[in-house]
Amino acid sequence: MTVTEPIGIAVVGLGKIARDQHLPSIAANASFRLAATVSRNASLPDVPSFAGLEEALAAMPDVGAVALCVPPQVRFGMARAALEAGRDVLLEKPPGASVAEVMALDRLARDAGRVLYATWHSRHAAGVAPARDWLAGRRILGGRITWREDVRRWHPGQDWIWQAGGLGVFDPGINALSVLTAILPVEVFVGAAELEFPANRDTPIAARLTLRTTEGQAIEADFDWRQTGPQTWEIELETDAGPLLLTGGGAQAQAGGAVLAQAEALASEYDGIYAEFARLVAARESAVDLRPQLHVADAFMLGRRTQTDAFED
Ligand code: NAP
Repeated sequence: MTVTEPIGIAVVGLGKIARDQHLPSIAANASFRLAATVSRNASLPDVPSFAGLEEALAAMPDVGAVALCVPPQVRFGMARAALEAGRDVLLEKPPGASVAEVMALDRLARDAGRVLYATWHSRHAAGVAPARDWLAGRRILGGRITWREDVRRWHPGQDWIWQAGGLGVFDPGINALSVLTAILPVEVFVGAAELEFPANRDTPIAARLTLRTTEGQAIEADFDWRQTGPQTWEIELETDAGPLLLTGGGAQAQAGGAVLAQAEALASEYDGIYAEFARLVAARESAVDLRPQLHVADAFMLGRRTQTDAFED
């Protein structure tokens, strides 16, 4: 019997998502071993820690993979350095600050023979695969996405999210688009968009999009960061076989009068990410689906802009 050594992984950026999700999912997956952390101002007990990634890569030849949990605006340089140092790379979503830089990384990874995994955590929600299977071969007649949450709850004090390249409300909205593009049996594109920018910020606090299927049917999306109380992450699609409803960010799915999935919102998405990363590393395959980010870029390109009240944390 061959015993495979776990992959030594360095986690870069010890912020909210690294601590809430990446570290527990790495600890729970026997294919990985937390080999190092890279942080400007934090460390973990008994784990080698470094202030910069290049320093970590030079000092730790047994780090075979790097998980980048930093904001998108600083991700490209780190991903390039890791790929050029011969390491496999996992990118948090959105995979970069621009579409073209992620395409460039994809090319770099191919040329270097490394694995690049652009993750979309919401695609690992329990209802997504059953919804995709149920929709296969069906006609889409229209739909609605409602993705409304409280920015103060999910992004407390995060300045980068309000700065250019931080995406604003598209930071959660892109999760809805990652699910939509994973489940639809046809392609969609942004037909029109309206973006609301707080007077004191560079990124939108709300956005409404009309997406069109290749057959011309409309899917209306409503992204809003001003929702207090219960949070809403829903996708409803009308089909020739009746409606499909995803709730809880994709954790629950029902269609054709049957429950397809029933899980807690956000449960196990990151366990799914690390299971998939282990598979990709073993198979020496990359996975880079740019469509969710392309739709966001198109919304910025086509969107009509309005100004709304200044936002303070
Ligand atoms: P965060 O709490 O602000 O953490 C990001 C970390 O990146 C910081 O704590 C910092 O860690 C490091 N960093 C390096 N350069 C930085 C810079 N120039 N500005 C700010 N931080 C810098 O953000 P997060 O919520 O973890 O989000 C990180 C990524 O995960 C984003 O792409 C986000 O979309 C994604 N994500 C977030 C959530 C969520 O619920 N918050 C959910 C899913 C995905 P050090 O101080 O350790 O260097």
